[in-house]
Amino acid sequence: MAKGDILTQTALQAKSPFELRVNPGKTVPEADVRTALATGDMGFLHSFTTGSTVDGPGVRVVAWTAGCMWRCVYCHNPDTWTMSNGIPVTIAEAARELRKYRHGLQVMSGGFTLSGGEPLMQRRFAVKLLTAAKDMGIHTALDTNGYYADRLGDGELDAIDLVLLDIKAWDRERHRQITGMDVEPTLAFARRLAARKHPIWLRFVLVPGVSDNREDIEQIAAFAADLGNVERVDVLPFHQMGQYKWKRLGLEYTLDAVAPPANALVEQTCAAFRAAGLKAY
Ligand code: SF4
Repeated sequence: MAKGDILTQTALQAKSPFELRVNPGKTVPEADVRTALATGDMGFLHSFTTGSTVDGPGVRVVAWTAGCMWRCVYCHNPDTWTMSNGIPVTIAEAARELRKYRHGLQVMSGGFTLSGGEPLMQRRFAVKLLTAAKDMGIHTALDTNGYYADRLGDGELDAIDLVLLDIKAWDRERHRQITGMDVEPTLAFARRLAARKHPIWLRFVLVPGVSDNREDIEQIAAFAADLGNVERVDVLPFHQMGQYKWKRLGLEYTLDAVAPPANALVEQTCAAFRAAGLKAY
């Protein structure tokens, strides 16, 4: 560890993002958190994982940020909601971690994905880390709900090769019930990216009885097809791998009785996106 590093107790590298992590950043003074957010010189990461094939093209290294302003009822990583559940990491440390994988990622036509939590909660750190990746010649992707994307300047968007944009529901009230927040900022970001011809991979979490309203899905499909920059749609079937985290964190989980969607429902949902002219998987 180099002089000045603050990476301590908890290993940054995790076997999977489903590892429960609580309070590694609790001892960081509030003033330091504010300085970190203002400068982007330090960020709060849940973990780094390697070898992902589902978070963008090729094989990816993924950094999972801590902090999210949404409260999705099906969130499988609620331990990423608070910043204090992240490991404080300087931008130099995070870039050094990434540099280890640079050659492998290039050989495998992969890249680096910044996910969360919601990475734009730490917008300055996110931009610095994505820029560092680009400077290493690594393909970059940002996985975001888009809510804070209006804080990104056009120049900052240049550090992002691909946006993985989550649209949770079309109906305004349903979106609020699922996430606690308004969908409009997400749609505005999608339109802004379309105007720039900036590629999007759309992500849609399919939860039986929660997000599987047929009309809603068709509206999202029509919207996405109209944008013209959505390269593919990933339909993500709901699962219960995050359930234990809700229990351990003492959070009220409302989906105990919900089973993962049947293959037929996943296929119908993909078909609805394909009918609008999109590639869906
Ligand atoms: S936006 Fe993502 S991280 Fe945030 S609550 Fe929803 S699913 Fe969880």
